[in-house]
Amino acid sequence: MENAKGRILIAFTVLLLGVSSTTNAQDRASDTPSLSARHQSIVLIASHTARGDLERLTPALHVGLDSGLTINEIKEVLLQLYAYCGFPRSLRGINTLMAVLENREARGIDDAVGATPTPQVSHEDRYEKGKQVLEALTGRPQNRPRSGYAAFLPTIEVFLKEHLFAAIFGRDVLSYQDREITTVAALVSMGGVEPFARSHMGLALNVGITEAQLRQLLTLIETNVGEAEAAVGRDLLSQALAWQVDRGDDVGGREEGDQQAAQHRSSPGNQVANTLFPKGRRITSDNFTGAVWVAMLATDEEAFGSRIGNVTFEPGSRTNWHSHPGGQILLVTHGAGYYQEQGGPIQLIRRGDVVEIRPDVVHWHGATPSSELTHVAVVTNSLRGATVWLQPVTDREYHRFW
Ligand code: MN
Repeated sequence: MENAKGRILIAFTVLLLGVSSTTNAQDRASDTPSLSARHQSIVLIASHTARGDLERLTPALHVGLDSGLTINEIKEVLLQLYAYCGFPRSLRGINTLMAVLENREARGIDDAVGATPTPQVSHEDRYEKGKQVLEALTGRPQNRPRSGYAAFLPTIEVFLKEHLFAAIFGRDVLSYQDREITTVAALVSMGGVEPFARSHMGLALNVGITEAQLRQLLTLIETNVGEAEAAVGRDLLSQALAWQVDRGDDVGGREEGDQQAAQHRSSPGNQVANTLFPKGRRITSDNFTGAVWVAMLATDEEAFGSRIGNVTFEPGSRTNWHSHPGGQILLVTHGAGYYQEQGGPIQLIRRGDVVEIRPDVVHWHGATPSSELTHVAVVTNSLRGATVWLQPVTDREYHRFW
């Protein structure tokens, strides 16, 4: 077919983004408390430290101490951050904390020191311990053969296990939840490390941070760091959520640990008879009109340079106008839909059609008014950048096909 020129994909990433599905978001949000004052403070301390924004870090440290973080807890946050943003920024954060404490002491404020870290046993097998910590974070065994960067440069994989996971995540004083909040905030605020930010969002969900809490974290970043960083973060969260639904675990293993083949966990509740791949999670986002479901299928974006998701549109639903920096390929597996490039006619697409969408071509895709549409969306060259979202496809534009 001749829309073989489609381009569709990224959206799906996008799709995932704004999610607040009626069901999922509400279920999760209604019974979950928002981020504690302590966690909110950790978000800001981690974000400003990671960006080297000491002017904002200073007040964030005061607020953190006022809101119940102990001195030792903040020390742990700053210590952990060196693994993500390097010694220079970590050390500047530590120096800033010292200055803040001096200032508060001079004003007669008596801050709680808090629990002292338990000394680590020197003879323990750190590599094994690192594996155990990673298993706790991901909820799955870490025993696959090395692949990807771990095979290419095994030393870095040993450092990750022995050092990041055993020596840092293995410390007490902070919980895994505290550490994942720290990491997600730092990575989203730094930018340029999207696969890792997404992995840690998955780990955060695994250790009990809720979707609503991660959304609140992103709102804090939007307000205190930048709208662009938060927008990318929301996109990544949607992807992390789709992976959770689809696979239920190991969102994080791909980062520091192992790549693993996509495992499609069948989830009958989410599956529709006429969808070859899992239907996934319903998402609601400003980037879409109507009801859209997404399930991420492939998981190792770094290795393959692409993201693959199964996207289902209800009749009448569609993406906004958008473009993908690395292009997109749509494989239509069910139903009928529309595809349109800016300046061109709306094309009808049906099961069996392939739409090749070149990089940066502005377009939209979605169901027809009377039929569902399911396509596998392959975001190609995905590391070139996030989907660029534009305005909604108006009803007038959408119905122009007729
Ligand atoms: Mn697209």
